[in-house]
Amino acid sequence: MTATSTMTAQTKGISAVGLRKAYGEKVVLDGVDLEVPEATIFSLLGPNGAGKTTTVQILSTLIAADGGQAQVAGHVVDRNPDAVRAEIGVTGQFAAVDGLLTAEENMLLISDLLHLPRQEGRRRTAELLERFELTKAANKPASTFSGGMRRKLDLAMTLVGKPSIIFLDEPTTGLDPRSRRNLWQITRDLVTDDGTTIFLTTQYLEEADVLADRIAVLDGGKIVAEGTADELKRRVPGGHIRLQFTDAHRLDAAARALGQPMRDDEALTLQIPSDGSIPALRAVLDRLEDAAVEAEALTVHTPDLDDVFLALTGSSIPGQARVTEPAR
Ligand code: ADP
Repeated sequence: MTATSTMTAQTKGISAVGLRKAYGEKVVLDGVDLEVPEATIFSLLGPNGAGKTTTVQILSTLIAADGGQAQVAGHVVDRNPDAVRAEIGVTGQFAAVDGLLTAEENMLLISDLLHLPRQEGRRRTAELLERFELTKAANKPASTFSGGMRRKLDLAMTLVGKPSIIFLDEPTTGLDPRSRRNLWQITRDLVTDDGTTIFLTTQYLEEADVLADRIAVLDGGKIVAEGTADELKRRVPGGHIRLQFTDAHRLDAAARALGQPMRDDEALTLQIPSDGSIPALRAVLDRLEDAAVEAEALTVHTPDLDDVFLALTGSSIPGQARVTEPAR
């Protein structure tokens, strides 16, 4: 544990430096650095087996790292695990929901485990079941619930303890698109309404794209890229600027000014390879201005996260990386 001096002082979010973990010969995490500001959604994106759950287990004090250091909610994880546990909630694929108990009984069990006064436990249970639209199902055994309802109940159970940081480990794996969107909205509300910090692991590029303020791509035990979805997309070739012109004359003049852009004479458009950054845009506009040509419209096309993943890791996320909508 040598990395203390490089840790950000007393962040209430999450920060980690140089996390390492091996199981026997197999190195799972090979020096992972993370920084998650308070009240934001951070997504750790990676294929099956990349080490996402291992990272969550270390940050949530379930297992110890072999090296490196992490701070969660202002506490050093391996020095003060109880303080960390008091601040966090963890929900994942292996839900804590007991199928034999009703939704309400599951919730009350958690409030008992947390030693909440009876009255307070009942009040919070009712409030959370209402918030997650589970009131009607409150007295049914959880085993009769759909996948989406189980995940909502699991999250509601996590919220009984009012955590300031929630780890969502692949929260929507296996859910239908409607339940998935429902959970996305709930996740967003946790940040905007309650100021919760969310650490989300996912294999779904779209999930990271729509939810996360920042995304880190985990591959081969290392973070291979980190940034906002837009920043990541800009790092990948395939982005371009598209210019639309009103007539062939202007198209010709602009094509001359811009070197050898791809042109479509029928659509009266030019396409210039670009990372879509402001300096790149400015350079194109300056050239047009110098040539006294006006474009009718300008659009910037950035590649999607699928392209990013392919470019960064050399392979697509296997299986169900894309969320596909059912035919209506
Ligand atoms: P992810 O959540 O990204 O799918 P995991 O963190 O679950 O990945 O696993 C990363 C790798 O570590 C996998 O190859 C997995 O087999 C291995 N692993 C995880 N836990 C253990 C363990 N307790 N013993 C041995 N290997 C493990």
